[in-house]
Amino acid sequence: MTTNTYPDTRLLIANEWSDALSGKTIDVVNPATGKAIGKVAHAGIPDLDRALAAAQRGFEAWRKVPAIERATTMRRAAALVRERAADIARMLTLEQGKPFAEARVEVLAGADIIEWFADEGRRVYGRIVPSRNLAAQQLVLKEPLGPVAAFTPWNFPITQIVRKLAAALASGCSFLVKAPEETPASPAALLQAFVDAGVPAGTIGLVFGNPAEISNYLIPHPIIRKVTFTGSTPVGKQLASLAGAHMKRATMELGGHAPVIVAEDADVELAVKASGGAKFRNAGQVCISPTRFLVHNSIRDEFARAMVKHAESLKIGDGLSEGTTLGPLANPRRLSAMAKLLEDARASGATVATGGERIGTDGNFFAPTVLTNVSLQADVFNNEPFGPIVAIRGFDTLGEAVAEANRLPYGLAGFAFTQSVKNVHLLSQQLEVGMLWINQPATPTPEMPFGGVKDSGYGSEGGPEAMEPYLVTKAVTIMSA
Ligand code: NAD
Repeated sequence: MTTNTYPDTRLLIANEWSDALSGKTIDVVNPATGKAIGKVAHAGIPDLDRALAAAQRGFEAWRKVPAIERATTMRRAAALVRERAADIARMLTLEQGKPFAEARVEVLAGADIIEWFADEGRRVYGRIVPSRNLAAQQLVLKEPLGPVAAFTPWNFPITQIVRKLAAALASGCSFLVKAPEETPASPAALLQAFVDAGVPAGTIGLVFGNPAEISNYLIPHPIIRKVTFTGSTPVGKQLASLAGAHMKRATMELGGHAPVIVAEDADVELAVKASGGAKFRNAGQVCISPTRFLVHNSIRDEFARAMVKHAESLKIGDGLSEGTTLGPLANPRRLSAMAKLLEDARASGATVATGGERIGTDGNFFAPTVLTNVSLQADVFNNEPFGPIVAIRGFDTLGEAVAEANRLPYGLAGFAFTQSVKNVHLLSQQLEVGMLWINQPATPTPEMPFGGVKDSGYGSEGGPEAMEPYLVTKAVTIMSA
C-alpha cells in the first residue's frame, strides 16, 4: 500500500466525468475515524436528463456491438479491475471500513463476475421452433431490453454494482447506476475501467444524489426499461410498486435474516469456523449474513463457548491497519441500530456472552457480540440485524428448527450443518430460502443463482437466470412468399 489519499467523485455521463450542474456535493466520511475525507457530486434533475439522454444513445451503440466483441471489451475491463485491485480496494476500505484484505477479495470477485457474464453473453441463444405449416419458419429471438436504472448499496460497493452491470452489458443493455453516496470512489474506479476498456459513450453512467429523488425520476422515465435494486425490504417494496405502476421490469435483491441450523450430528468445530467466518465478514453488514443461529440443545453450550472464542480472537481496527479482521460499521446509523438491538435483547432475557458495546468514541467500532438464550420475540430475531451479532437459540427437533427458520417473511440465505444425508434432504426441501449453504460458509459464485424469495425479493443475479431479465423475447413467424 503506497498512499491513503482519497479522490473526490464526480458524475459519469457519456464517458466524461463532470460536476453536478448546480455544483452541489455531499461529504464522504471515513467510518474508522468519523472524519470527512472527500466529496461526491450531487446530481439534480438536469444532470439526470443528461445521463438519461446518454444512456439512450449508449444503448443504440452498444446493442449493435456483436456479443463476441462485447465480451472482449468486458474482459478488458475485468483485466483493468484486476490490475488496479489494490488501489480500488484501498479506496473501498477508506470509504466503507471493511478490512483491506476483504476489500481486495471483493474487487477481485467483481472482476470474476464480469468475466463470467462476458462469456455468458456469447451464449444468449434464441431457438427455432418446428412449425405447424412446413412453409413457415418460427423463430424465437432474444434482444436487449434497453437502458437499465440500477440502485446499489454501500455494503459491497463493487460487487453489488457488478452483478447488475455485467449482466446488463453482456445482454446488450446500457446501464445507469445510482451508486451509494457514502461509498462513491470505488464504484467510480470500477466504471472508469469500462471507459478505459472502450465501451461506447453512454453505455454506462454513474450518478449520486438524493436516492428518493433519483429513483422517483428515473423509474417512471420512458427511456428506462428496467429497474434493479439492492437494499432494504421497505425501500425495495416502494421501488417495486413504482416500477409496477409504470410497467417496468424489476429485480429486487432485498434484506434477509438467514437461519443457521446446527443439527445434533454437526461437526461443531466446522460449524463455528464456517458460520463465524461468514458472520463477521464485513462486520455482519451482508444480506446473506448468518443471523439466527438455531443450535441443537445437546451441543448449544459447546457451540456458544466456541463462538465466543472465535469472536474474541478477531482483531478490531482500521481496515488499512495490518492484521485487522473486523473493521468499523459503515455508518453511524448501524451503531445506533446495534445499541437498540442490544438494549432490546437484554430486556427480553438474552445473555450477552461477549461484546455488546461500542468500542471507543472515534469511528463506528462495535464489539463482536454473542448472545445466548435469545427469545423469539427479541428484535434481533425478527428484524435484519446487519451487524456483528451472533444470536443463539436452542432447539430439540429438526422440525422445530425448520418451522423457526421459515417463520419470518424473509427468505434469502440459509445455512445448515449436519453430517446426515437424511437431514440434508429434509433441509434442502423444506427451507424457504433462495440460497442454502450446507457445511460451509456462503460462497456466492457468478455461475450460481443469487436471489431470494418472499420479502427478500425476486429475480436472480447469478447464473444464466440473471441474463433473462435484461432480454426481450420476440416471436417471429415467417411464411415463404
Ligand atoms: P435504507 O434502507 O434507507 O437504504 C438502503 C439502500 O437503499 C441505500 O443504498 C440507499 O441509498 C438506498 N435507498 C434508500 N431509499 C431509496 C430510494 N427511495 N430510492 C432508491 N434508493 C434508495 O437505509 P440504510 O441505513 O442505508 O440501510 C438500512 C438497512 O438496509 C440495513 O439495515 C439492511 O437491512 C438494509 N440493506 C441491505 C443491503 C443488501 O445488501 N440487501 C444493503 C444495504 C442495506
